Amino acid sequence: MNKLAIIFLSIASLFPSHSKAQDLMARQAPIDTKLRAVDSVSIKRLLKTEEMADPAIDLYQTWSNEFVNYTQALPAEHRIDLRDFHMPCDSRVVNSHYGYRRQFGRNHYGTDIKVYLGDTIRAAFTGKVRVVKDQGRRKGYGKYIIIRHPNGLETTYGHLSKQLVKEDQMVKAGEPIGLGGNTGFSTGPHLHFETRLLGEKIDPEKLFCFEAGDIRGDYYVYRRYGRSQLMAAHDVSNLPEETEQSVEKAEESRAFQQQQMASRQNRSKVYKVRSGDTLGKIAKKHGITVDRLCRLNNISKNKTLRPGQILKCS
Ligand SMILES: [Zn+2]
Repeated sequence: MNKLAIIFLSIASLFPSHSKAQDLMARQAPIDTKLRAVDSVSIKRLLKTEEMADPAIDLYQTWSNEFVNYTQALPAEHRIDLRDFHMPCDSRVVNSHYGYRRQFGRNHYGTDIKVYLGDTIRAAFTGKVRVVKDQGRRKGYGKYIIIRHPNGLETTYGHLSKQLVKEDQMVKAGEPIGLGGNTGFSTGPHLHFETRLLGEKIDPEKLFCFEAGDIRGDYYVYRRYGRSQLMAAHDVSNLPEETEQSVEKAEESRAFQQQQMASRQNRSKVYKVRSGDTLGKIAKKHGITVDRLCRLNNISKNKTLRPGQILKCS
């Protein structure tokens, strides 16, 4: 049901026809008087309910109860309102940050917060539970939950010992959703907490200071091409409206940057041989044939390469 239909149905329900006389009077009253009688609070509440039923519908084309690798393009700019934030747990101790972890040789896409087994885990924002799944023992997130929020973010809560919510359930910021645990790929009880915008990972510590249990700014203005930044609410309201034109401009500058990068790459036409390299590998890396590589360097196909040797590649 669209917003207008909901509002008008609600207006209708606010004016029950008690008697014929009243009904007549109501009918005679100009429509704007009737509208004024409906307090803006109830309209806001209705809009809020609709927003909850389909959080961030302007941003996401789909709703699924599976983990999603979004193929949808990110907007050039998206303003994430952080003001509804609630700490996902009572603990304020960060065990591990977002980023590359040498010990595991891979990236860590969330923040690990120390919790004890059975600690209450809460929704970071009001929203709708999208995924409640278990990846199994010693694998991935273990028992995890993903919630989609009206501000466009999706938050993930991993390694839980128990999930207290169901898929498609609406939750309020701070509402208990699970219990802390050690399930999945985890070496001790902790909460693995992720923030994503249409699948794009954002370092949660850019948005929140977990030690202080607070947000770092009212808004996080995500920019696909420029620099994302934290902003106070009054500064966000002064920002120019996101227009088609500014999206086009961003695309243009992106194309220009790519061109520059390509021409820079073209200029670097030499390659330093590393151990394990073969003529075939090097040729493939530079998008040329082995024959051409040999001709460029005046060498035969059977030439033994030594590490450190410089080869022309274009
Ligand atoms: Zn983690």
